[in-house]
Amino acid sequence: MDSQIEEIKSRLDIVEIIGQYLKLSKAGANFKAPCPFHNEKSGSFFVSPAKQIWHCFGCNKGGDVFTFVKEIESVEFGDALRILAQKAGVELKSLPKEDIRLKTEKQRLYEICDLAARFLKNSCFPAGRGAKLSNI
Ligand code: ZN
Repeated sequence: MDSQIEEIKSRLDIVEIIGQYLKLSKAGANFKAPCPFHNEKSGSFFVSPAKQIWHCFGCNKGGDVFTFVKEIESVEFGDALRILAQKAGVELKSLPKEDIRLKTEKQRLYEICDLAARFLKNSCFPAGRGAKLSNI
């Protein structure tokens, strides 16, 4: 299951896949575009070919090629996997649904923790009060 995901990932270029949905323009080593997930004209949406990830500095969404397809197509992880498997020319073996759900759940949990950590760091505690944080 994981090896299939890795195989699909290794066959796909994130810039090429996202380029099928958005008009990407080169920005140094990265590519950028106006974010499809929030309303803007400036282009806070970045794609890193080196890391094969994307991130929006406007709405803080981000992830890998699977996350992108999942978000833009409004589908579950399993469907995003199927779409990308097709693009990569990888034949998916039967997927245990539980595994996918678990993985998505874990990912969501991680995202929430990450968001909470960022929120704490940026909003609740002004710089220089890091010592207090560790006492909580
Ligand atoms: Zn955005």
